[in-house]
Amino acid sequence: MPLKKICCIGAGYVGGPTCTVIAQKCPEVTITVVDLSQERIDQWNSDNLPIFEPGLDDIVKECRGRNLFFSTEVDKGIKEAELIFICVNTPTKNYGLGKGRAADLKYIESAARRIAEVANNSKIVVEKSTVPVKAAESITAILKANTKPNVKYQVLSNPEFLAEGTAVKDLMFPDRVLIGGEQTPEGQEAIQSLCWIYKHWVTEERIITMNTWSSELSKLAANAFLAQRISSINAMSAICEMTGADVNEVAHAVGTDSRIGNKFLQASVGFGGSCFQKDVLNMVYLCECLNLPEVAEYWQQVIKINEYQRRRFADRIIESLFNTVTNKKIAILGFAFKKDTGDTRESSAIHVGRYLMDEGANLRIYDPKVSRQQITRDLTDSEDPNKVRDLVTICDDPYQAALGTHALVVCTEWDEFKTLEYDRIYKSMLKPAFVFDGRLILDHEKLMSLGFQVITIGKRLQR
Ligand code: NAD
Repeated sequence: MPLKKICCIGAGYVGGPTCTVIAQKCPEVTITVVDLSQERIDQWNSDNLPIFEPGLDDIVKECRGRNLFFSTEVDKGIKEAELIFICVNTPTKNYGLGKGRAADLKYIESAARRIAEVANNSKIVVEKSTVPVKAAESITAILKANTKPNVKYQVLSNPEFLAEGTAVKDLMFPDRVLIGGEQTPEGQEAIQSLCWIYKHWVTEERIITMNTWSSELSKLAANAFLAQRISSINAMSAICEMTGADVNEVAHAVGTDSRIGNKFLQASVGFGGSCFQKDVLNMVYLCECLNLPEVAEYWQQVIKINEYQRRRFADRIIESLFNTVTNKKIAILGFAFKKDTGDTRESSAIHVGRYLMDEGANLRIYDPKVSRQQITRDLTDSEDPNKVRDLVTICDDPYQAALGTHALVVCTEWDEFKTLEYDRIYKSMLKPAFVFDGRLILDHEKLMSLGFQVITIGKRLQR
């Protein structure tokens, strides 16, 4: 049951932090995280990690070179390991037959083919990437088709529930660890091996085991439920703005019902990140494939409301700025999809920024953790590559971003935005000076007392 060597294929937002925490908690286990990207591996081996996560640097420093290794030698990593995590990306396909879109499993397949190609002893193969139900069946088929004598595989599902920005905390203190496997003696033995790892720091009652398909579906279901809650409160925010109700008050009232709970009831400019949209689209696709159109339609609404919320927010900015933003300077504060990460995948800031650029606005963007190159990449219009050069200025601090602008638009809930010197910012802006708080994090009364026109989500502010 105890394991000595683990390999993780994929050194991204999941593979890197997950294996770092396992390395710290299981000092007797050697873990090699492999990736095809030399650049990513070089960064993991440097002082400048490829991802920002609070608390991660210190643990990497503690374990790297001791029992944690980052390498591009994928085959070697596979050969030596008894257990292999597959942590590769599973992006959304660009097209679908209906409204849903499948996750592209090409990276999963190539990882499975690599394992089948080079493994010369038996392995436990663990799907950690988020995959559609029955993906383990495809992985097993690929492995079995290429099996060498005396090599046996057990495929487990062990979806990851960490959230970016709190990855280390989530890994150290998980709500639960989910492991799915075959209901055979071999399957149960493999489950116990993986349990052995987690039991180093996770209490037994938080380790849930089940059949593979339940485990795969549970991950999609969890993300769909979370995204649905955000879309539900955002749908309420539209009603609040029309009626004079305050979305924060409604969220408080609803959330104090113990059957509902108060988490994930924060209205905003919409959810982003690499997972929610992808996994809900995947759920929609799955329902379409299973000929469940009503269920597909139900989940599709979660995405529709999110798109509507972003568009609605951008429209309110344009309307408030006297129905035109052409040649107006607008500061965007925050570009990451949430605070405490540098990740911009599916960030609402990209969508809002693009809408405003389409209307001719000049954007001045500041984010504490997102690089210039990333912002430029995200806003580049393939049909008009000069647009980003002409319309976007990336700034080193929020004061520089605000200078000479008509409006500030908060797209990410970074803590530092709560305590800026807004009197100084107000003086440096064109008048009337507007603040659009897309995250409901600022002190609106104070801003209004300084002279700002404040527009936020889910409430009408009276001057
Ligand atoms: P990522 O894009 O950051 O990392 C994936 C890595 O896999 C990349 O570095 C890529 O180069 C590497 N890779 C791809 N194919 C490979 C191969 N054949 N061999 C070696 N390396 C290969 O992705 P991520 O954000 O870490 O997500 C990974 C999976 O985890 C996805 O399925 C995602 O849905 C899921 N997930 C993500 C999060 C999150 O917050 N990011 C949370 C839970 C689950």
